[in-house]
Amino acid sequence: MDIRRVGVVGAGQMGNGIAHVFALAGYEVVLHDIAEQSLASALATIGRNLDRQVSRGKIDAEAKAAALGRIATSLDIAALGPTDLIIEAATEKEDIKNKIFASLGPHLAPHTILTSNTSSISITRLASRTDRPEKFMGFHFMNPVPVMQLVELIRGIATDGPTYDALKGVVERLGKTASSSEDFPAFIVNRILIPMINEAVYTLYEGVGSVRSIDTALKLGANHPMGPLELADFIGLDTCLAIMNVLYEGLADTKYRPCPLLTKYVEAGWLGRKSQRGFYDYRGEVPVPTR
Ligand code: NAD
Repeated sequence: MDIRRVGVVGAGQMGNGIAHVFALAGYEVVLHDIAEQSLASALATIGRNLDRQVSRGKIDAEAKAAALGRIATSLDIAALGPTDLIIEAATEKEDIKNKIFASLGPHLAPHTILTSNTSSISITRLASRTDRPEKFMGFHFMNPVPVMQLVELIRGIATDGPTYDALKGVVERLGKTASSSEDFPAFIVNRILIPMINEAVYTLYEGVGSVRSIDTALKLGANHPMGPLELADFIGLDTCLAIMNVLYEGLADTKYRPCPLLTKYVEAGWLGRKSQRGFYDYRGEVPVPTR
């Protein structure tokens, strides 16, 4: 199947990165959001990130201008009608996603593939509420999208072969690498990564090590580019807790119980980098451990 025009729903952190990489790879992109401010700041972010790629010699100024020229924005979901592929990257709430797919339905051609960038919601359940569960997949990009190489491809129970093959081709054209996952809670990356972070928080909670000793141990002892607590602050502690809860509830296994210290940080509003405080305090010149 020939995919040329792509609709992206949600112009937040992930949506702007997705629009960026598709436009750079030559796809026509329509970016939709309900908030005008999100669309404006997405375009500004894409411009800045393309500039960084130009200054590092990864792309030239012509490619930047061509990519920006391929992105249209709209507050009207109907503008996504004439597309071959939809990537939903709106807020992580199931009712919001269901409403988006329901309101898209009447505008789409029968061949259009629907995907969601959800980190945790069942692809099979989202698909079952649309008019085309066989043309529905999980299309899970990593943050920041222009930098991260991996894309997880998640088949729902009803997803057909041509839909999977089409998305695999898209990932190749983006110059990224696909990893296939079955549709179980948190898929592959987060199923492994977030319990590791949760275990690092338990290690801190039980007094086995300090923030600094835990991060140093994993960086130098396991060759991880970032320590687990530093990484948790980068992801957002609320996001880490939400994913642990999805694993705990979805797999009904106590090995996934969220660490009470993680819950306490989230209750305090110490969510990591985005709130300037988490396992490190980012308000000064250099990050300082909070424990
Ligand atoms: P975000 O909060 O940065 O952006 C969400 C955007 O969706 C906002 O601009 C909001 O205005 C918009 N939105 C809300 N309701 C909408 C609607 N009805 N129609 C259109 N737009 C609507 O969120 P994000 O971090 O970009 O996450 C988006 C999705 O990507 C989520 O499903 C999340 O699980 C997934 N995801 C996030 C990450 C990450 O690290 N942030 C990584 C992988 C996947």
